[in-house]
Amino acid sequence: MNWRRQSRLDRWKHWQTWLPSLLATLFVAGLFWLKMLQPLEHLAYQWLFQWRGHLAWDERVVLVKIDEPSLKQLGAFPWSRDRYTQLLNVIKSSQPNTVVFDLVFSELSPADQRFAEAIRQHRQIVIAGAWNQPNRTWQPNPMLRKAAIATGHILQTADADGIVRRIPTYVDRAATLSLPSLQTYQLFANIPEMPLAQSHLWPNWIAPTEQMPQYSFIDLLNGQVTPAALENKIILVGATAAGFNPLMTPFDEESSASGVHLHATLLNNLLQQNLLQPIHGKRWMGLLLLSNLIWSHWLRQVRTFQQLVGSGILVSGWWLLALLALHQSYWLPVAVPGILWLTTSMMHWIMGNIQLEAKNQQLNHLANIDELTQISNRRALEQYLQQEWQRSRREQQPISLLLCDVDFFKQFNDCYGHIAGDECLYQIAQALNLSTKRPTDLIARYGGEEFAVVLPNTDAQGAENLATAILSQVRAKLIPHQKSPISHYVTLSLGLVTVVPDAQIDWLDMIDAADRALYQAKFQGRDRACNAVIKSPTAEFV
Ligand code: GH3
Ligand code: MG
Ligand code: MG
Repeated sequence: MNWRRQSRLDRWKHWQTWLPSLLATLFVAGLFWLKMLQPLEHLAYQWLFQWRGHLAWDERVVLVKIDEPSLKQLGAFPWSRDRYTQLLNVIKSSQPNTVVFDLVFSELSPADQRFAEAIRQHRQIVIAGAWNQPNRTWQPNPMLRKAAIATGHILQTADADGIVRRIPTYVDRAATLSLPSLQTYQLFANIPEMPLAQSHLWPNWIAPTEQMPQYSFIDLLNGQVTPAALENKIILVGATAAGFNPLMTPFDEESSASGVHLHATLLNNLLQQNLLQPIHGKRWMGLLLLSNLIWSHWLRQVRTFQQLVGSGILVSGWWLLALLALHQSYWLPVAVPGILWLTTSMMHWIMGNIQLEAKNQQLNHLANIDELTQISNRRALEQYLQQEWQRSRREQQPISLLLCDVDFFKQFNDCYGHIAGDECLYQIAQALNLSTKRPTDLIARYGGEEFAVVLPNTDAQGAENLATAILSQVRAKLIPHQKSPISHYVTLSLGLVTVVPDAQIDWLDMIDAADRALYQAKFQGRDRACNAVIKSPTAEFV
């Protein structure tokens, strides 16, 4: 093997590691770009939360819900501002720390004056501003806005599966509702530091929203809630009745939660310091691609079964890691890495199969082709002869066999050397090749300096014509042979036999007969062809 071929092989080996990984990366990048992986990633997110299970709702956040019973008793929305004034007056004695309205009081109302007064008296009141479309604000009216201590935005965008995974920390320099609420709360309470520099806040879902501390608006107005339940708490007031800003969480399917629960969750996360930290972005993408290269490198070293087991372990191990990470409030994507690694495994498997196929073909070639002359070898000849013998017998068609032997080849070798002898054999194989025309004709090196030609569907006349053609093709090659007693050039002797096979004789008899005919040609002076007679009582000669 020369160095050029060797280096090409080395390069190919190199590619066997990188190519599956590259193809898998392109494939997964394509799927990602077409957003086809998103549904899977979303599903994985929900599963991870369900597997992690529930956390405890923080007792410091209390929900006052405008639910069906409240609407039933107090009438349909929008309510008069006096309802909220009434609420503030009722809960005042309970001394809550902060009251947050997840409601936008934008239209002007004659009752605004009284409401603004109640807000001012309470001091720690936060109200919402809404961005129903990005950058299109829907603000509380100026009087209330001035009375409230702060305003927060309540813009939220759900993903395709109905879950809000992140909300912008700021919209038009207004922070999301939970941040000003906590800033207000901390005026009279200690809280952890807030992540004001993050561009988004990712809620870390806690448990079904019905488990959080909550009271019905109407129950509060009717004085059915003990003051201790609200003391020093953050009171979040919002609509939870069906149809009001419906929201889905991994624990509340079919949109049974509402927007106010998202803010309750974020308030909880900020107080508990367990906001979700997503592991994403360019740096992580780089690590993922690197991991895939290492994975690809390992896959190349092992067998299919190990690849299968390894893929299972890697993907389930990653799931486990993602689950452990979620316990620590980190969110690891699982669908994209999993699909990337599995695609890489599949590419290895496919390429392994392609290689195996190529190797099989190569082996087949080696098993059936004569190395020196590049025509079929004796094994292939015998296989073909048997097969065609059976066919001819079934179809009752003649089949012919030619055996050729180089005349005085021993002398040729002695005179010109073995290398020239080999070259001569190659030239004779070429001559045979040129002489045969039909695709069903098979030429083979039978052994040493003997060749054979199988001619299916060929009668005696046809075989004789071919024998003549072969003799003249070889003569035409004009390969010098000083030591030949019969010519200046290399010549051949041929034995040929044609038969319509029957049950009495088999293909070995045919070879025997051709061999006898060849001997006869040698005996008669060489450089000629002789016909054989098969010794069979019934064989029909054609
Ligand atoms: P005849 O005309 O009776 O066939 O005489 P011959 O010399 O050709 O017959 P013999 O069978 O005595 O010699 C065959 C020679 O062919 C012997 C061997 O040196 C040579 N030979 C067989 N295989 C090869 C080969 O692969 N390469 C070369 N160079 N010579 C071979
Ligand atoms: Mg011989
Ligand atoms: Mg010979």
